[in-house]
Amino acid sequence: MSELTTSQHFIGGARVEPASGEYFESTNPATRRVLYRAARGGAADIDRAVTAARGAYEDARWRDLSQTRRGRLLRRLGDLIAENAEELARMETEDNGKLLREMRGQLATLPEYYHYYAGLADKIHGDVVPTSDRRVLNYTAREPLGVVGAITPWNSPLTLTSSKLAPALCAGNTVVIKPSEHTSASVLRLAELALEAGFPPGAVNVVTGFGGEAGQALVDHRALAKISFTGSTATGSRIAAATAGRFVGSTLELGGKSPNIVFEDADIANAAMGVVAGIFAAAGQTCIAGSRVFAHRSVYDDLLERVSDRARSIRIGDPLDEKTELGPLAFEGQRDKVAAYVDIGRGEGARVLTGGRSTDGGLGGFFYEPTILVDVDNSMRVVREEIFGPVLAVMPFDTEEEAVRLANDTEYGLAAGVWTQNLARAHRMAARLDAGTVWVNTYRAMSPMSPRQGFKSSGAGVEHGTETIKEYTRLKSVWINT
Ligand code: NAD
Repeated sequence: MSELTTSQHFIGGARVEPASGEYFESTNPATRRVLYRAARGGAADIDRAVTAARGAYEDARWRDLSQTRRGRLLRRLGDLIAENAEELARMETEDNGKLLREMRGQLATLPEYYHYYAGLADKIHGDVVPTSDRRVLNYTAREPLGVVGAITPWNSPLTLTSSKLAPALCAGNTVVIKPSEHTSASVLRLAELALEAGFPPGAVNVVTGFGGEAGQALVDHRALAKISFTGSTATGSRIAAATAGRFVGSTLELGGKSPNIVFEDADIANAAMGVVAGIFAAAGQTCIAGSRVFAHRSVYDDLLERVSDRARSIRIGDPLDEKTELGPLAFEGQRDKVAAYVDIGRGEGARVLTGGRSTDGGLGGFFYEPTILVDVDNSMRVVREEIFGPVLAVMPFDTEEEAVRLANDTEYGLAAGVWTQNLARAHRMAARLDAGTVWVNTYRAMSPMSPRQGFKSSGAGVEHGTETIKEYTRLKSVWINT
């Protein structure tokens, strides 16, 4: 135990001991090996971090820096991430069990987040407004908000943190990040890289710890100007309620139960590959997981056979091994949750076509087989609730009308996939699906340049693109008597 690394908070540009003196362990889910001990943050640590962030914001080191200079720092941070990509990719693979080759892919695009907002930094401006009164000059200014709180989950710590950090900094805010208690390491390293890039101490702070402690304290902090949250709908709803009365703005990226709809005119081989990648990538632990499939009755058997054949051949094992196709769930509780859901499905009358068992992956870890459920319908919990694991529910439909109705019959509205060769149908479906992102003949494409929003219980506010800058700025109207 004594040789374990202890990782402190990162506040005001330095590593800081937790006020409580307490640490908690972070475990590699593939092997159950304890990786490091992270600082257990609480209200005192959050207060210290928010004060550091407020100081960096106010004392002209950051807020009044020229926008050109802000852009240069963001560019430099993107470059540093590229230079340290392999280290960061391995950190996340060890912490949450995602495949190293998938993490290398994510790290290859991560610098784009910073480079994109670097290019936007000097393009944030207000307007001169032509009011009817010619004796006054009216103009608007787009100002930063102050201290932004960022709370993120464990499934893609660096990417999901960067979706918040890059635009928040670009707009002139400072940030306090509370990463998931399951994955603290890579986000702490990111904050160190920000300091190395030249961001002033206090511009980027990280307080590690649990949601009900550090997370809650950040949400409740009186000096917080905004909260940007990615995580479950249940937590998002609690955060929205806690901040609403104080009129603190929130951007919420929440859960999903996304449909993949396969029409009779689809390229079935392509659709089958998309369905498999949509649900089994990252062992199903992506918010956009295509966890429900609706297949036209005429191609249902063919699709199911292709998808289940592929699912059975998926190679489970060490996420560091290039040949592995499915890693573990991120921690024991998540693996148990997935197993419990499959049992619930069995109890509801679902048939397990393939998978349906926990395994230790030969490494002693928290793995679960790629699982396909059939004989299911929209009334069942396994079809309605987010499982966040490698579990797919497949159902037939007869008409386009019915496909739309079944796909939209969910509290979620994050994403949807449509597989068809008919262009007019593709446009019709894109217009009628209640989802913030619609993919046609592809799945999981994403870019920091493209705005995304969760509909219904999947979120509030926009991330990515130029659109998100509005979420990190406020608009001031200035009138001058001429
Ligand atoms: P979670 O809601 O349990 O936790 C997310 C974060 O919130 C963690 O850092 C946690 O410590 C913190 N937290 C928990 N309770 C809190 C509280 N009361 N106050 C403040 N912070 C609190 O979610 P998770 O299990 O870590 O992540 C999985 C969920 O995230 C899934 O529902 C998934 O769909 C969602 N997700 C959404 C997106 C998206 O872009 N829409 C992306 C990835 C993941």
